[in-house]
Amino acid sequence: METHATDVIDAAESSHQGGVEHHEVIVIGAGVCGIYALHRLREIGVDVKVLEAGGDVGGTWYWNRYPGCRFDSESYSYGYAFSTELLADWHWTERFSPQPETLRYLEHVVDRFDLRRDMRFDSRVESAHWDEVAGLWRLHLVDGADMTCELLLPAIGLLSAPTLPRYEGLDDFNGLSFHTYQWPHEPVDLSDKRVAVVGTGATGVQIIGAIAAHVGSLHVFQRRPNWCAPLHNGPISDAEMDDIRSRYDEILERCAETPGGFIHGPDSRSYHDVAPGDRYAFWEELYTQPGFGIWLANFREVLMEEEANAEFSAFVADKIRQRVNDPTIAEKLIPTDHGFGVQRVPLETNYYEAYNHEHVHLVDISEAPIERIVPEGIRTSDATYEFDVIIYATGFDAITGAFDRMDIRGRDGVALRDVWDTGPRTYLGVQVVGFPNLIMLAGPQGASVSTNFPRAIETSVEWASDLISHMRSNGYHRIECTDESQDAWVREVEDLYGMVLLRNARSWFTGYNSNVDGHDIKRHMIYNGGAPRYRKRVATVAANGYDGFVLS
Ligand code: NAP
Repeated sequence: METHATDVIDAAESSHQGGVEHHEVIVIGAGVCGIYALHRLREIGVDVKVLEAGGDVGGTWYWNRYPGCRFDSESYSYGYAFSTELLADWHWTERFSPQPETLRYLEHVVDRFDLRRDMRFDSRVESAHWDEVAGLWRLHLVDGADMTCELLLPAIGLLSAPTLPRYEGLDDFNGLSFHTYQWPHEPVDLSDKRVAVVGTGATGVQIIGAIAAHVGSLHVFQRRPNWCAPLHNGPISDAEMDDIRSRYDEILERCAETPGGFIHGPDSRSYHDVAPGDRYAFWEELYTQPGFGIWLANFREVLMEEEANAEFSAFVADKIRQRVNDPTIAEKLIPTDHGFGVQRVPLETNYYEAYNHEHVHLVDISEAPIERIVPEGIRTSDATYEFDVIIYATGFDAITGAFDRMDIRGRDGVALRDVWDTGPRTYLGVQVVGFPNLIMLAGPQGASVSTNFPRAIETSVEWASDLISHMRSNGYHRIECTDESQDAWVREVEDLYGMVLLRNARSWFTGYNSNVDGHDIKRHMIYNGGAPRYRKRVATVAANGYDGFVLS
């Protein structure tokens, strides 16, 4: 059914009179993406409100407060690019900014552009239902509030639905325990404590490296090891920062041309054309360089062909052997079920060296699985370990989890979580058939998932704000993608998976999560075509009058 502008306005005004707050646009989430969306939409005169579940701004950087938490993007490639003044007045102090500094940066942006007045905190959205007659989204918040909007823009993060393991007895533990995402805001003193870390993904690896030298004892419960590589963090001096400021145009241009939106792009040579000795010299150099170069500036074939991947994996395995004193432990830390880079590579500081401390122990739960949590600690099939603190670094119901946790219903009351039961289906990662006026800013199958996040969300936020301008100037009040366009996009996403080895991985790139029902099947979660191709694609769609969407 077609909805007319007057219906929308009447519905909006009458619902407002009924005590329901109405906005033209509601953005869900005040993290990196929601902050920019608010700024951009306000600039084009849209009435917009941001709803945030947390107590303040920051999203990921508000929640994740664990020791060692920092990003793996070069700091200066992570800041917003939309304001030259902002670029000029911020001094990153470390090559890879730690969480407190990143949070301060986001708070600074919010204050500098006076964004807080249009944000509502402690406002978790429980449900969002599309009202086809009124042409509105009707939102219900956990605190009881009801709101309506014409356009709903989730900016709810990729890794914002933390998952605890499903062990019995989680609540029986007498000590302190929490998921890394819910790290307490007050300081946690781990010194002299008997600490357990469950999970060895990017989060676990950061924590272990950061706390190993400062705790009484540390037991790491590892189910599968990951391929990790050195971060090589360091301070940024005033002089270096001055130089970075003078080169922002060049840096951002570089990020715009690489598939991942980082300063690192694949080596232009073919692995096959480089003699083995030269390959090793190149890999030695990559191993000593900061950041994701080792993953993203490598030969393309390392991520696409088994032979190249196996050779590089063997190179990294030797590095692990050199860094870990106990050969048995070293072998346990070397993945055997997947090659380097087909899962997200954790970058680490002193991770492997942590296992050289006498008081740090690796517990291989692939051999002796955890049976349950007990009041004194963790019981595996062959021992009971006693702890003061258990840290669950057990990951997330990634990308779609935050959508699934809200009751989002589109046309005819159909639930998004049912539509995505066996995996997401989208058009451009932006929309889903049956969910009019829902514009995902960092949705599954979009480019934000596999790229340097701020660079990617610039594309989606700017594209969405151009779309909203287009709708306003043409008097459109409704947008929905077609079945055909969605089917074609899903096929394209699936085909791209076929080209990269990560298709075989059991990681959040393929929707795997042993702690969530149904997430043992492979899902096509991310767009593997790279940011430049994605940007070109969505720009063409816009230039062709929003091809694949029906506007009315
Ligand atoms: P993750 O990569 O999914 O790792 C979760 C870990 O917990 C894995 O080792 C997993 O083992 C283990 N695990 C899960 N359930 C378990 C269970 N029931 N029993 C035992 N072990 C269990 O999660 P993450 O480390 O939080 O990282 C997620 C993503 O966040 C990263 O890939 C990255 O994109 C992002 N992140 C970024 C940064 C950064 O920018 N530097 C830092 C941290 C995180 P299996 O492998 O066997 O499943």
